[in-house]
Amino acid sequence: MRCTFCPSEAVLRLRHANLRLCPEHLVARVEKEAEKAIREFRMFSPQEKILVAVSGGKDSLGLWAILTRLGYTADGLYIDLGIGDYSRRSREFCEVFAREHGLMLHVLELRKELGAGLDEIAETLRGEPCAHCGAIKRYLMNRAAWEGGYAALATGHNLDDEAATLLGNTLRWDLEYLARQYPVLPEGPKLARKVKPLVYLSEREMVAYCLLRGIRYIYEECPHSVGARSLFLKDILNRLEDAAPSTKITFLKSFLRVHDQLPPGPEAEVHACPSCGMPTAARGPCRFCRIKERMAQRAPA
Ligand code: SF4
Ligand SMILES: [Zn+2]
Ligand SMILES: [Zn+2]
Repeated sequence: MRCTFCPSEAVLRLRHANLRLCPEHLVARVEKEAEKAIREFRMFSPQEKILVAVSGGKDSLGLWAILTRLGYTADGLYIDLGIGDYSRRSREFCEVFAREHGLMLHVLELRKELGAGLDEIAETLRGEPCAHCGAIKRYLMNRAAWEGGYAALATGHNLDDEAATLLGNTLRWDLEYLARQYPVLPEGPKLARKVKPLVYLSEREMVAYCLLRGIRYIYEECPHSVGARSLFLKDILNRLEDAAPSTKITFLKSFLRVHDQLPPGPEAEVHACPSCGMPTAARGPCRFCRIKERMAQRAPA
């Protein structure tokens, strides 16, 4: 199988883009697609400093590599969630990557920030661990980006993630969530701008990019992800993609084209959390502070 662009042997076939790519052209395509999204959605300029949220997985470490290769100034942020061995291993991948590339990595530990890790939170609080985890991560990532004076917080959400989220939001016709699903969300008071430069890149492309660039990452999934709805939605989309290549990219791009016609979500009244001062739609303390308080009240083990 020949590369679409040169006589070299292709290592990846992308049916949705009608391309067969050799290592050199695959790396070039991935970086070009990320740059295209950054420019198209005006995510940030080369003069701005970016904070990349890294989990130790292929997407976030791949994103960090892409941004530095494209000449952007990007520091990393790793949140040690205290999820047993998974957190220890994923942290190691981030630290090794930062060391090998001479990059700055900030590390926040949930046990220090909140007095408990996610495993204890999952045992103590009712509700899905991922719902608590998502709220905690959003809070800490935003606070770190805002306090660190970064122009934007970049996350490694790829095409497969975004298409699955879109399918979930569409199945519920959740107009509020649909209105908020966009590759760039603007900054506000104490709110960092949020950007997703990998929206046009599939999981397969990110796996191949990391392999070709020698980026080592954690293969295991978080133990709390077992049975997650997002995995089920991804599986459905993969089956559709097999039968009709380009389903995911068409689904997402068509949505982004009509996104500005969606009714704007209700203006959330934002208050300053009385405990930490960060913005929250809640009347009293923000969700992070409420989880912290709840964990402090639990009976000693
Ligand atoms: S799978 Fe759930 S618990 Fe695990 S890191 Fe993701 S959101 Fe957090
Ligand atoms: Zn080629
Ligand atoms: Zn708070």
